[in-house]
Amino acid sequence: MKGLVIKNTGSWYQVKTDDGQFIECKIKGNFRLKGIRSTNPVAVGDRVQIILNQEGTAFINEIEDRKNYIIRRSSNLSKQSHILAANLDQCMLVVTVNYPETSTIFIDRFLASAEAYRVPVKLVFNKVDAYNEEELHYLDALINLYTHIGYPCFKVSAKDGDGTGVDAIKKDLEGKITLFSGHSGVGKSTLINAILPGTKVKTGEISTYHNKGMHTTTFSEMFSVDGDGYIIDTPGIKGFGTFDMEEEEIGHYFPEIFKVSADCKYGNCTHRHEPGCAVREAVERHLISESRYTSYLNMLEDKEEGKYRAAY
Ligand code: GDP
Ligand code: ZN
Repeated sequence: MKGLVIKNTGSWYQVKTDDGQFIECKIKGNFRLKGIRSTNPVAVGDRVQIILNQEGTAFINEIEDRKNYIIRRSSNLSKQSHILAANLDQCMLVVTVNYPETSTIFIDRFLASAEAYRVPVKLVFNKVDAYNEEELHYLDALINLYTHIGYPCFKVSAKDGDGTGVDAIKKDLEGKITLFSGHSGVGKSTLINAILPGTKVKTGEISTYHNKGMHTTTFSEMFSVDGDGYIIDTPGIKGFGTFDMEEEEIGHYFPEIFKVSADCKYGNCTHRHEPGCAVREAVERHLISESRYTSYLNMLEDKEEGKYRAAY
């Protein structure tokens, strides 16, 4: 029998089978992922094969190849990782231009790491009801910027629910697994509650002692939405992390920078001081936005300082 893992509570996994049953399963066998050591071999979003035995217990005995997955290190020192979710179709990043302000550096870092993980991102600009004229002007400039680069944008007022763009988001969730992310305070819970009326968003987090250091295990869950879609709201996910990005790779994850960089004089151009840099020229000519270029440099600096930032 095949199904989709929709909930992970420690050693138990809830699987929704393709014929619509919900079955609690344990894992059978030793699943190993190439290249990473994981504390949980199976994650929400995994497509799995399950077997039922006579005693009425069920086991996951096979995981289908993932199209993507997001991980978090169990701790900074450990090489072990925790897989938070697999097979995401998209991520909705909830942002606000004020109350609180989400910086473009945060947005761009998030977008770049999502590119690295091959997860398409859509931006949800929330709290449009609360902005003054100047803020609305800035909001439209941001929407113009990101739409041009290729990131779809929504304008919503989550607290007012349908009719303010929330229904457009609902429509967009159909048939997909969507991860919700965003700074705390931007209205992520309000939005999710507007999308899932009657369902209280519940997330559980427990701490366990493991080896020498304490680490937190986040239990993940997907909620089903109308039209055969799922949403994931995992508190542990602040960003995708940038730990496995090489310096010369960073520019690949800014689509408009990557495109222009084909015309740089040097193949390994980092777009800072090199002569014949097409990216810097494009910034000067306002073909690439100053704020995006600043974010790019910001990520590059981190890399130079050897900083690790899982969450920003
Ligand atoms: P979260 O931390 O991202 O989950 O944010 P919450 O959903 O808890 O919302 C944080 C605060 O913003 C709460 O006081 C909400 O009532 C408020 N809020 C959420 N959405 C909106 C909105 O569309 N407009 C306004 N003005 N306030 C909102
Ligand atoms: Zn260059």
